[in-house]
Amino acid sequence: MNSALAGIGMTSQRTRARMIDRLRAKGIVNETVLAAMAAVPRHVFVEEALSSRAYEDTALPLGFSQTISQPYIVARMIEVLLSGREGLGKTLEVGTGCGYQAAVLGQLSREVYSVERIQPLLGLARKNLALIPGIQVRLKHTDGRMGLPELAPFDSIIVAAAAGRVPPELLQQLAMGGRLVLPVGGNEQYLSLIERNSQGFTESRLEAVRFVPLLPGVE
Ligand code: SAH
Repeated sequence: MNSALAGIGMTSQRTRARMIDRLRAKGIVNETVLAAMAAVPRHVFVEEALSSRAYEDTALPLGFSQTISQPYIVARMIEVLLSGREGLGKTLEVGTGCGYQAAVLGQLSREVYSVERIQPLLGLARKNLALIPGIQVRLKHTDGRMGLPELAPFDSIIVAAAAGRVPPELLQQLAMGGRLVLPVGGNEQYLSLIERNSQGFTESRLEAVRFVPLLPGVE
């Protein structure tokens, strides 16, 4: 591992191990998810000035009024997607941001596609992901409310920004047995898990959350 990846001081292995301990303390139990969280160096994805805070369990600013998601929320959403399954299969992420969650998804998925509406963020994500060995994430500049119809169906869909209602296009693009996890709401948001089965869709409402809004169009 090169020195930028290994980290020193506030980005060292020990600091990273403490983040995993905090995830356990907050209730993340799936060892596969914890291992994936431990494998991704979050400091690579945050601005250099904030790298000493990379392993705190908080969201951090990444520019363009967007944030890198809180590690607990990344772990929780992925745990919900993975529960009872071997892996995430073919995965779509909506809202790449700096690429952090895409890197975690890459540890657990057969294929990862991630879409982002802000072009410069995609460039940033591409640069960050190139530093992570063995990660294959395909990125696209598009409005993720429409999903990626040309590559559907997906076994797992994860949305990193809150929608007022569940985009019907994303439901359509779920494989049979597939799962979609997303924050729903405006000022008050909750995490929703939707599963597709032969009878249709079942929704489970999980905990209250706080995400940036899922916005229309691209910029
Ligand atoms: N996955 C990121 C989280 C980034 S924050 C991480 O690992 O930390 C959410 C991202 O969703 C922002 O970058 C925002 O620009 C993006 N976003 C919002 N609406 C979107 C849309 N309709 N399509 C694609 N991306 C969107």
